[in-house]
Amino acid sequence: MHYFSTNGRSRAVSFREAVLTGQPVDGGLYFPAEIARLPRGYEKSLGSKSREQIAFDVIRPYVGGEIDDIRLFEICSEAVAFPFPLIRMTDRTYVLELFHGPTLAFKDVGARFMSRCIGELGTMSDRQMLVVVATSGDTGGAVAAGFHGSIGVQVVVLFPKGKVSRVQELQLTTLGGNVLGIEVDGDFDECQALAKRLLSDPEIRERANVTSANSINIARWLPQQFYYFFAFREWDGPPPVISVPSGNFGNLAAGVLTSLSGLPASRFIAACNANDVIPEFLASGVYRPRPSVPTLSNAMDVGDPSNFVRLLKSVNYEVGDLRRMMDAVSITDEETIRTIREAYDDLGYVLDPHGAVGYRALQRSIEGLSDAAGYFLETAHPVKFDSVSEILAVPPDLPPSVSELFGRTGHKIEIPVDYEILRSIVTERI
Ligand SMILES: *Cc1c(COP(=O)(O)O)cnc(C)c1O
Repeated sequence: MHYFSTNGRSRAVSFREAVLTGQPVDGGLYFPAEIARLPRGYEKSLGSKSREQIAFDVIRPYVGGEIDDIRLFEICSEAVAFPFPLIRMTDRTYVLELFHGPTLAFKDVGARFMSRCIGELGTMSDRQMLVVVATSGDTGGAVAAGFHGSIGVQVVVLFPKGKVSRVQELQLTTLGGNVLGIEVDGDFDECQALAKRLLSDPEIRERANVTSANSINIARWLPQQFYYFFAFREWDGPPPVISVPSGNFGNLAAGVLTSLSGLPASRFIAACNANDVIPEFLASGVYRPRPSVPTLSNAMDVGDPSNFVRLLKSVNYEVGDLRRMMDAVSITDEETIRTIREAYDDLGYVLDPHGAVGYRALQRSIEGLSDAAGYFLETAHPVKFDSVSEILAVPPDLPPSVSELFGRTGHKIEIPVDYEILRSIVTERI
């Protein structure tokens, strides 16, 4: 399988090159030359297959033989080595829990898959690998945990000061070793801009193999298809409406890819918070990126979603086709709070703010349709967000991995939004 740039001004590359470089030099995103079609009737056979097997079947065409099958199967097993339960909320609504991985967010799947692919593909080179990631909270933890202890890999995580939760900060700063947490006195968009400069800095590229671990990397993006298959394996009834809490739109673009591959879905809902660039785009056809505004679901505070171009590319830029496949809605913080309270009072279920946006968007979209049913993605565990215990006035149950974190001290470097300072810190590590 070859990968092209969505900007169309870079040459086609192999899976290996796309993974190791992260992003094409023309500033676009890598996109597969072909969307792999599922074998006929594949979705009906899911019930008899293990998670590992499904993951392997889904990803194999995209790897195109560049990792041997036995090793690829192991990588898939490690990427999905925890449960992905689909749980009933009401008659017509279900939740797909994606927070049972080591850092309690869906990003563990992509981060674990990617770190192992880099371990495998990067061993062909004797140069050090530098992994750069900007995070609004969950990405950094998942990527840092995925790469922690990998020989020959340095990880730099940029996170915005005061905008990540206590658990998230501890997950980023307590690993040490090859993981460096840098707190930037700015917002997520500024962290992402700094990360992009590092990635394209010729002097840095001279010294190390540099790659991004943001969801733009195909080795993080493509495995996000797996759990849509796991959910369908449990699904009983007409094709589901699937509501995806969205920020950078990697998760949703992966869902749409499964659908184009042949996995049945009735419709996708891009569940956004007040950062409504995409809902506005679908309504008006005008794409108007702008600075993000802070909300309770801070992992989705994105004003210029990087993966949206992949969604457009999947439908060959036919916006009409996109509208037939998906809706996008914007949910306010007030609705998010109300949804968290209602789910707890009525169902005893503790939502996190991102899942709450997804749940509310799902409820809204199936309200008027008597025979529609669907699920939403619960993208992180509620304990990762300090707001949840404030809203519910009850302390959340602490998973063991979190109680252990609270006993540790983090180490971070604090910097202003200043590329030269960042560059000198990073240069020392490589
Ligand atoms: C990253 C993240 C999202 C947004 O996912 P995208 O793929 O960037 O749209 C949603 N919820 C949580 C908890 C996240 O960490």
